[in-house]
Amino acid sequence: MNTANGTNSANSVNALWHNHAHMPTMPGREHRIVRGAGAYVYDDAGRELLDVPAGLWFANVGHGRAEIADAVHRQLSELATYPVFGDFCNPRAEELADRIAGLVPVEDAKVFFTSGGSEALEAAVKLVRRYWQLTGEPARQTVITREGGYHGLHGFGTSIVGVPAFREGFGALLPGALTVPAMDLAALEAAILAHGPDRIAAFLCEPVIAGGAGVVPPADGYLTGAQELCREHGIVFMLDEVVTGFGRAGSMFAAERYGLRPDIMLLAKGLTSGYLPLGAAVAGGRVAEAFWAPGSPHVFQHGLTYSGHASACAAALANLDILEREDLVGRVRSREGRLLEALLPLREHPLVADVRGGTGLMAAVALRGHDVAEEVAHAVVNEGMLMRVTGGDALQISPPFVIGDEDIDRIPVAISAALSRVSGRRS
Ligand code: PLP
Repeated sequence: MNTANGTNSANSVNALWHNHAHMPTMPGREHRIVRGAGAYVYDDAGRELLDVPAGLWFANVGHGRAEIADAVHRQLSELATYPVFGDFCNPRAEELADRIAGLVPVEDAKVFFTSGGSEALEAAVKLVRRYWQLTGEPARQTVITREGGYHGLHGFGTSIVGVPAFREGFGALLPGALTVPAMDLAALEAAILAHGPDRIAAFLCEPVIAGGAGVVPPADGYLTGAQELCREHGIVFMLDEVVTGFGRAGSMFAAERYGLRPDIMLLAKGLTSGYLPLGAAVAGGRVAEAFWAPGSPHVFQHGLTYSGHASACAAALANLDILEREDLVGRVRSREGRLLEALLPLREHPLVADVRGGTGLMAAVALRGHDVAEEVAHAVVNEGMLMRVTGGDALQISPPFVIGDEDIDRIPVAISAALSRVSGRRS
């Protein structure tokens, strides 16, 4: 109903459209998280819950870090942001770009900021296609991705996502996407040869497949083999480190752990630990040179109002300070064995299909079907934990890096208790 001041009071409640959610059945199902501290979050019923998925794989340094809030407050008070458009820029964006360039295993890195991972993918695909046009191979437009791969859901992201349900029902998608089986080098090579290497712009993969397939670490030699195939056929090797970047996989970047030197790297999530939205497409010299070489007449015609947002960059800088000062990446590496060992006995349970992990603080407990997974994720709240379903049927185990050892050990205990409750209801 419209009121005198023009507001519609009937619309003022429950207008929030949840992502990937069935809205008609939402009223009453909302789980409101109101506060966070370290590895815990608190809901509006006052329950303390271990944040097992770290939000959506992002709360790496933990919740409630006053140091990040203070850095953002200082920046907001001085200058919320100023765009990185044309000649304009701001010092926080410059500082962060240099810091990232000094960290990534990417040759002569240049950093194009976005507001998240999906935007980083769109920027990178445009960049790589433009690069091929400028270097005399305009037919190179196809981007190869893998089944189960997930790189965000904007235009091109939706067109290449390796989860069919995310692609269907939107009408015509963008051409130039080719999907191959996830861990099969022979299939990748066959696809390259069948399609024609001179029509392939880039190969894009996550080092450890995250949300699309529910944590699948790489098969031995797969990633270096894929990188070699790319080099052999001149294909740009693009690594999506949106989830794995900044320590999640037990090294600052998964590229280091697996001996990779990507031409382009995508970053987001752990860059700020989620304190503010920020992503980046990092281009190595090979691609960037077409635009950066002295005398190049070319401009990358792409722009985002909030590219290099100063307050988001301030959050990232403070986040990286914490990550380095507390050696949180070392902490992840030293806890990965404990996490996997704690989870493995769950394989004995009849409702558990698989336990995957062993790469940093990234693991999944795959259950026998989507419905079981959802039921267990709900039941586990009674054990003091928050969990979410990923890859269709798996519980996502990706806690903040600051999780205590006793809390790591509590995760399988809580899942077991939830499984007993769900089995009891089902029998
Ligand atoms: N790439 C990967 C591997 C992701 O997991 C995600 C999001 O979960 C994205 C890209 C997209 O990032 P965003 O949701 O910030 O747009």
